Amino acid sequence: MRKKIIAGNWKMNLDLQTAAGLAKDIVAHEGSLKCEVLLFPSFVFLESVKNILNKSKINIGAQNCSHRENGAFTGEVSAQQLKSLGIEYVLIGHSERREHYNERNEILKEKLKIALKYNLKPVFCCGEPKQIREANGQEDFVLNQLKESLFGFSATEISNIIIAYEPVWAIGTGLNATAEQASNMHAFIRKQFAKKYSDSFSAQLPILYGGSCNPSNAKELFSCPDVDGSLVGGASLNASDFLAIIQASQ
Ligand code: PEP
Repeated sequence: MRKKIIAGNWKMNLDLQTAAGLAKDIVAHEGSLKCEVLLFPSFVFLESVKNILNKSKINIGAQNCSHRENGAFTGEVSAQQLKSLGIEYVLIGHSERREHYNERNEILKEKLKIALKYNLKPVFCCGEPKQIREANGQEDFVLNQLKESLFGFSATEISNIIIAYEPVWAIGTGLNATAEQASNMHAFIRKQFAKKYSDSFSAQLPILYGGSCNPSNAKELFSCPDVDGSLVGGASLNASDFLAIIQASQ
């Protein structure tokens, strides 16, 4: 039985005070949380938010890490540095990183390698852009992302990874995938892991949906058998919306 996971990707939003306030509002409701909750603030707020989450069941992650181990890479943050702060999760392959920072499948594989080396749990994002969906090429596109970034890892390594299916056309657009579209893609992804690894391995793999998830559509999306929760962007910036999404998952 897979536990539901609800993750909030705060992106480059909030300032120190509002990030701390949002974390406190979520912690105030942690008694009622039955799912796993993860928060992904900006790097600069990680330590402050982590201190707020300290004694709670809510976990924290970074939105990115370098594909390099350490050294002369100005402006980068390494997996080892994140681990030294006590960070547990890291987003890898978010479509905004792919699009604006030219992060390709091969680089993402390097990031996964280094995150796993330092015992961070990656949330690996995959998903097709609009023109690929319009041409009905979404399955081949996502399969290629999985093959080029993930399928070189062992089952033991992948058991530390969470998959987030995030169709690019649904991110920040208010246009979520329908329950049928999400269901089909999640079942497809699970089938690929079953083929590559095993049925029992694939049955344990958490696959989150991301893309304009909100309190109105969450329940329907979470009723799909292969949808194990959500990576939430915009709606995670508002405590009552984020808590309503959490509520919809339990
Ligand atoms: C995201 O950025 O991962 C995301 C899903 O954003 P939104 O919920 O705003 O579409």
